[in-house]
Amino acid sequence: MLYNQVQDLKGTIRVYCRVRPFLQGQANGQSTIDHIGENGNIMIVNPLKQGKDARKVFSFNKVFGTNVSQEQIYIDTQPLIRSVLDGFNVCIFAYGQTGSGKTYTMSGPDLTTEQTWGVNYRSLRDLFQISKERADVVKYEVGVQMIEIYNEQLNGLNVPDASWVPVSSTRDVLEMMRIGQKNRAVGATALNERSSRSHSVLTIHVYGKELVSGSILKGCLHLVDLAGSERVDKSEAVGDRLKEAQHINRSLSALGDVISALAQKSAHIPYRNSKLTQVLQDSLGGQAKTLMFVHISPEVNAIGETISTLKFAERVA
Ligand code: ADP
Ligand code: MG
Repeated sequence: MLYNQVQDLKGTIRVYCRVRPFLQGQANGQSTIDHIGENGNIMIVNPLKQGKDARKVFSFNKVFGTNVSQEQIYIDTQPLIRSVLDGFNVCIFAYGQTGSGKTYTMSGPDLTTEQTWGVNYRSLRDLFQISKERADVVKYEVGVQMIEIYNEQLNGLNVPDASWVPVSSTRDVLEMMRIGQKNRAVGATALNERSSRSHSVLTIHVYGKELVSGSILKGCLHLVDLAGSERVDKSEAVGDRLKEAQHINRSLSALGDVISALAQKSAHIPYRNSKLTQVLQDSLGGQAKTLMFVHISPEVNAIGETISTLKFAERVA
């Protein structure tokens, strides 16, 4: 039954837009979100423009407003997660400028409170639970790998050689992620800085053996918290900062190129143009399923980034 539910999503690319609420202390700020309509439409208002040029509508599979809970977000993600246990490969990306809510969607603000858990812990919880429910029929093994791509270089976070670590509970994974964070070898403030300039990829590898037939199911789930998409002012960035910015811009456009080539069913998919698309090649295209969460901030001073984020997203939708 689960299998049938997800058939229609096979090989598809879905784009969900999520709007972050105003942060504490700026609750009464002017918002650039004019309104969120039915059917995945969002109207943006640009206070710097006049007349009909000031408003623009963008369309996605779904748009989540500021009051949508972590649980509601997950409900619309869950069918993809479940399909991993049926042997599909799935990629879920969080895209947006720094501070727009990528890590909030993927991890959540606080690991200790299950209620605010993001997509990645909820996915793991589901994967372990469903694999237990199916234990009479399929024997599953789950392995996890955490990598970071920084300046087009791949670093293993959980273990030095970036290999798989077998896990049997969500708690195992939480522990492994704590180790991974430590291995980033930077302080908490620096960690936040660094994480906005690197792509972090949590991969969950599922291997199932059907007990009666002996047939094998292999599925893979990649949860990707992308580097911040903001354009860096070339006149201000120098040295390492400029190099980082160039690597980020290049790899995000390479990702956009791959997804839009897939969406257009193009004959040539340019996987080789970035480390990120190379790493994810087997899980982008073919029978694989892709979900992109694009995040926007409602503040007026973010309007430039908000519009370029929505344009990027429309290109891949
Ligand atoms: P990013 O990872 O894109 O840089 P974060 O996820 O760190 O952004 O979010 C920036 C700030 O906004 C954090 O303090 C986070 O807790 C808060 N935030 C983001 N999204 C939401 C949301 N949907 N609801 C409440 N707070 C949010
Ligand atoms: Mg982040």
